Amino acid sequence: MKMSFKQSEFNIIVTEFSDGRLLIFNSLRCTFGIMDGFTKELYEKIESISMDALQNQKERDAVSVMSENGFIVPLDFDEKTYIEIENQRMKFDKSALVLTIAPTLECNMACPYCYETKRSGPMSEEIQEALFLFVEKELNNPGTINLHVTWYGGEPLLAVDLIQSLSSRFIELCKKKEVKYSASIVTNGVLLNRETALILQDCKVTKAQITIDGMPEYHNKRRVLKDGSESFERIVDNVESAKDLLEIAIRVNLDEGNEQGIHDLLWYLSEEKKWGKNPAIYVAPVVKYTEADYFKNNCAISKQSFSEIEAALIARTYGEDKETVSNQLFPQRKSCFCQATVYNAYVIDSEGFLYKCWNEIGNKEEAVGILASANQMSPSILKWLSYKPDEKCWACQFLPICLGGCPYQFHKKGEHDCGNIKEITLARLRKAYQQYIEIKEAKENHEG
Ligand code: SF4
Ligand code: SF4
Repeated sequence: MKMSFKQSEFNIIVTEFSDGRLLIFNSLRCTFGIMDGFTKELYEKIESISMDALQNQKERDAVSVMSENGFIVPLDFDEKTYIEIENQRMKFDKSALVLTIAPTLECNMACPYCYETKRSGPMSEEIQEALFLFVEKELNNPGTINLHVTWYGGEPLLAVDLIQSLSSRFIELCKKKEVKYSASIVTNGVLLNRETALILQDCKVTKAQITIDGMPEYHNKRRVLKDGSESFERIVDNVESAKDLLEIAIRVNLDEGNEQGIHDLLWYLSEEKKWGKNPAIYVAPVVKYTEADYFKNNCAISKQSFSEIEAALIARTYGEDKETVSNQLFPQRKSCFCQATVYNAYVIDSEGFLYKCWNEIGNKEEAVGILASANQMSPSILKWLSYKPDEKCWACQFLPICLGGCPYQFHKKGEHDCGNIKEITLARLRKAYQQYIEIKEAKENHEG
């Protein structure tokens, strides 16, 4: 069979060097490479080349490498249809039931940028029972082999007794049904002392996400405890005492308000505390979700600044292992943007309302169902399940790692929000290249 190729539609030129070489990334295969001048010449005229007609071995090798890495694809391969099919497959995959559960919507903090407004207390026994029956029914679906629960809030550790009792029932149920159980938690960390971390370990919670927004003088103002006490030191001590029991990710929310002091915090966490692998540290932009006063005085950080801070953080935390380019720098392909668009995933609040998106929790008008009659989902579930990229996205080289951006933002704004994915991706890949060069030069110096 005659083999002909075309350029992939998802090649991103990261850097064009002055000697003609290209630093190129393919977002469908997530492959990254340097294309030399010889290969680039073949790449540019690839559609007019037939593999069988190539006499020269060097040319054949170059075409093979480009094909193996997805920079060129068979002429009749429709990459967009492939992405669409993968997306549909993931959306309606029933092998996992993924639940985000708020055992309470109460919180011991009053952060000014918080999007959660309506706060109900701990889940009643009646709702717990309805939740258990819902899980039992869902696990009866043939082919469901995993149950993952994320404990969320409010502050979930205000209801740690409920986490304990529900976890033990879920674990028992999964054992009976031969379903794999796993769990994680999103907590502000104030109540995560060692005793609580041991309880979580018993509840098969293996991962925790905790937020620290700046050095004490800043964090204590922004992550405000309702009783007026300061939280920074308490959270740092708690993380220290729990880090051998849980895989912890420290989230640092970034906006113009804390941009200035962020390098001090990142220095403190990585150099002073030696955090970086566990606890891992990552930054996230604060997005304006509400009309809260906070957003009148604080603007989102610029895309440029965010990607520079992020790349600097990754370079800092990669420090321990200078042998390999940090994995964190390579983008991952998405089959679905997030759980909000996945059929078998729900966010459940303490009153038993079901939602698709974490940001809607407690906002009953946006609920897609209630536990008591979970087989009667509201029509609004369709807006999440039918979410898909538009024409602009289908023409975008970043599509496989973005898939149209956050569906919640899309529903709010009526258009797909690129956020800073393009800037972040390019900054990360350039940093990866820089690390590669540093490693190469270090090896050469060592050998020389
Ligand atoms: S839709 Fe957006 S805000 Fe909602 S869960 Fe998904 S990523 Fe988060
Ligand atoms: S949201 Fe923006 S970056 Fe994402 S696929 Fe669409 S156009 Fe591309």
